[in-house]
Amino acid sequence: MTEHITTVAGVAVDTRHWIGGERVASVETFTDVSPIDGSTLGEISRGTATEAAAAVAAARAAFPAWAATSRAERARILHAIADGVEKRIEDLANVETLDNGALLRSHRRGVMPRVAHNFRFFADWLLKLEHEDFASRGHTNHVSWDPAGPCVLITPWNAPLMLATWKVAPALAAGNTVILKPAEWSPLTASLLADIAAEAGLPAGVLNVVQGYGTEVGNALVSHPDVRRISFTGSVPTAQHIARAAAANLTPLSLELGGKSPLLVFADADLDLAVDLAVEQYDNAGQVCLAATRILVEEAVSDEFTRRFVEKASRLRQGDPRDEGTDLGPNIHPRQLEKIDGFVRRALDDGARAVIGGKRKDALYYEPTLLTDVAQDSEIVQEEVFGPVLTLQTFGDEEEAVRFANDTRFGLAATLVTGDHERAKRVTARLVAGTVWVNCFFVRDLQAPFGGSRHSGVGREGGTWSFDFYCDVKNTVTAP
Ligand code: NAD
Repeated sequence: MTEHITTVAGVAVDTRHWIGGERVASVETFTDVSPIDGSTLGEISRGTATEAAAAVAAARAAFPAWAATSRAERARILHAIADGVEKRIEDLANVETLDNGALLRSHRRGVMPRVAHNFRFFADWLLKLEHEDFASRGHTNHVSWDPAGPCVLITPWNAPLMLATWKVAPALAAGNTVILKPAEWSPLTASLLADIAAEAGLPAGVLNVVQGYGTEVGNALVSHPDVRRISFTGSVPTAQHIARAAAANLTPLSLELGGKSPLLVFADADLDLAVDLAVEQYDNAGQVCLAATRILVEEAVSDEFTRRFVEKASRLRQGDPRDEGTDLGPNIHPRQLEKIDGFVRRALDDGARAVIGGKRKDALYYEPTLLTDVAQDSEIVQEEVFGPVLTLQTFGDEEEAVRFANDTRFGLAATLVTGDHERAKRVTARLVAGTVWVNCFFVRDLQAPFGGSRHSGVGREGGTWSFDFYCDVKNTVTAP
């Protein structure tokens, strides 16, 4: 044990950066606090422009050799990282739950196995990534995916390792080197990932992890001229800042941002399914970018829907996210709770009615809330709350449903519940959303494109879309 190791849930976590295959400490630190009980989890190195420059230099130095490593070898190492993740699922799940307050059972059984899968999927996809050559006027065209260079990956706290590895895995598979900056509210599992990758044989400098605040080390990373890709998941204002920084160097960027997604329930829907999907929107205490937080119900079934929703939602158990029986854990931070409460207070002052919830509980818990009597142009309908707060509006016909659904500045996802396949096709065609779920929610295959329209994002990742983003795609034309 050294002063740079903190023990969280019995797991030793290094609180320093991981740069060029070495642990590097900053002079300053920041305190990482658990949202479960406010306990201090560690004093984490607080990176500055110096560490950002060192990490980019390390990524640059490691790039030529990693880019020249065969696809088969890169894939082998990615599978070895997946093996390492699988061996440490318990550690990762426990540490991440203490760090961000999300449910231990879903970390254990859902998230961490998916983290391993992220590495396996992109390793395998790399091996089959091929365009067919084609002839044109006697010349052959051959498309290849050339690694782009050092990539900066910046991630939020709501699903730290899952969101990080959606980026890290394809970026590494593509032959790039990476600088990952996790969110300052949940820095720990990224540090464990660095250990796992090193043990799996990933060469020094190929994956670097820097810790610290977005406005400090994050800003220095996205402004660095040697960075060849920026992939960011987070809020719209930060994305706007990053886009301005990227513009100075013309760094290509991918932005996965917030949402205010609708859940449309038509009168012909299976209402039990609709209620199940609606209540599911409280998962992760509402801290899910894809959450369908605007429930739009056809007038004819709205009373019955509401009755069944209240019955089901009132059975949700809020409590310690480490307990198997808990459905909703705490929100991440006092600042986030203030923000959530502010949205709800203003909506109530504006004439909204709380069908359930509407106030904070002890510590960082907020009651699962459903607000009705809300106007389409009100703040609570238009802005992302990022807490367990849903609104309910009714619509008269399909036309009005589509109008309400599309009437925000976002376009991340939409869910519709209907028994009529023709209606599903008609409505889906008119929705502005990167993903539409029909009679289901949150089902994602990594082959599929993922991303948002309008203020929900720029670009798509997943399958070949990820390689298109993380590579300089090259076409070679050869004369006969
Ligand atoms: P945030 O924008 O505050 O922070 C995200 C990350 O950006 C953090 O690592 C932070 O340190 C960093 N950052 C902040 N300022 C920076 C700067 N100037 N330069 C570089 N980096 C900077 O977002 P958040 O509150 O952590 O996350 C919540 C948001 O993320 C919500 O809007 C949510 O919808 C969105 N989100 C989107 C997706 C998606 O896939 N579309 C997934 C999860 C979360």
